[in-house]
Amino acid sequence: MRLSSQINHSFTVHPTAEISPKAQIGSGTRIWHFVQIREGAVIGQNCIIGKDVYIDFDVNIGDNVKIQNSALIYHGATLEAGVFIGPQVCLTNDRIPRAITSDGHLKGNDDWVVGTILIKYGASVGAGSVILPNVTIGRFALIGAGAVVTRDVPDHGLVVGNPARLVGYVCHCGRKMEQKGNAWHCTVCNWTFEPQEDKNDSHR
Ligand SMILES: [Zn+2]
Repeated sequence: MRLSSQINHSFTVHPTAEISPKAQIGSGTRIWHFVQIREGAVIGQNCIIGKDVYIDFDVNIGDNVKIQNSALIYHGATLEAGVFIGPQVCLTNDRIPRAITSDGHLKGNDDWVVGTILIKYGASVGAGSVILPNVTIGRFALIGAGAVVTRDVPDHGLVVGNPARLVGYVCHCGRKMEQKGNAWHCTVCNWTFEPQEDKNDSHR
């Protein structure tokens, strides 16, 4: 595998990747084949950006983030540190997608509203998932492969399906926890988590 370090940069980028000179890349970050990173994007330290990943303009990504092959991270997305994005995940940003206006003209930048997505610290998004705009995914939440996430996911929440439904809670280690009354317990880590009920009602 051949990688070339760009001059004056402490990150590593494959020669086929296209990195805007107006993007900021943290030290120790590795960027693989055919990645595109747009202007204004900010990527933290020690991230791994897999083959064919697209990172749109002004996207903000924290440290120690792993983005697997062919993921699409559109404008409006923020990924906190330690987030995992599986292969072919799509983070969308247009809640009402139309190419044209009601009178048939091609839509311009002023004809639609950018939706935002926030993925909080340590959360994981499984392969092939789609995240709709205006969604927050909580800390250490886990999105099952192929899920379509249409609303917020609580901290440590495990959601699956289309539309994604809350089916349990996962530990920091990623394992599904066992329910004990109102709390959830990881037998491997011996850690107990008590969800905040108010935030979760909409998923039940
Ligand atoms: Zn655990």
